[in-house]
Amino acid sequence: MYNAPLSIFRSTALQFSDFSLDKRLLTSLEHMGIDTPTEIQTQSIPVGLSGRDLMASSKTGSGKTLAFLLPAMQRVIATKALSKRDPRVLILLPTRELATQVYSQLRLLVANTQYKAIKILGGENFNDQAKALARDPHFVVATPGRLADHLAQRHLYLNGLELLILDEADRMLDLGFAEQLRAINQAADHKRRQTLMFSATLDHGQINEIAAELLKEPEHVAIGASH
Ligand code: ADP
Ligand code: MG
Repeated sequence: MYNAPLSIFRSTALQFSDFSLDKRLLTSLEHMGIDTPTEIQTQSIPVGLSGRDLMASSKTGSGKTLAFLLPAMQRVIATKALSKRDPRVLILLPTRELATQVYSQLRLLVANTQYKAIKILGGENFNDQAKALARDPHFVVATPGRLADHLAQRHLYLNGLELLILDEADRMLDLGFAEQLRAINQAADHKRRQTLMFSATLDHGQINEIAAELLKEPEHVAIGASH
């Protein structure tokens, strides 16, 4: 029987090790039992790593979370912070449940590093959150309403924010968060910020409008979109 060299198989499917990712991230993925990137990951990770803005869509369950968490982790690991105190990465999600899911994946990735991640969700104790923000976390996972409240109270500043990520952007707009997204965008308005926007669909009427305001010359990745 003919044994094909491994490289033949390797050439067909990209592995996470084909991206320029820190060894610690590859180890975390191994522990999570994840080896082959999904299509949205294959297309979004290089854009995320390039520093360019991104507007990406693919259906639920396609692996969008790692498509933004891996470039976010890599940027924090590989570059010097713009600010010692401000969060470096802010990830916004429409609901407590979705934010908690993303936070738990992020926890697995930061566990292997010296970086700190917190979540700031509506319905939880405001003063405890203010204290957690005062400890200068590198990553903040939040719902927009509560994050905007802390911004207004000056419990955090976003002048040093390097990466703003909007996940489930269509649902954030459905829930009426456009105004909070604009306030957060304003607070983090500087040249070196990168913005990644993810959505299950691009059909939402307001999505192009908010993308035009928040993203600068974005790359577009749409998986499974019908034309
Ligand atoms: P989405 O945000 O697109 O709905 P998620 O990021 O929540 O999808 O991922 C859905 C599930 O797929 C999660 O349980 C996640 O751990 C798993 N997953 C993500 N990427 C991969 C991968 N490359 N290989 C196998 N499973 C993956
Ligand atoms: Mg998701």
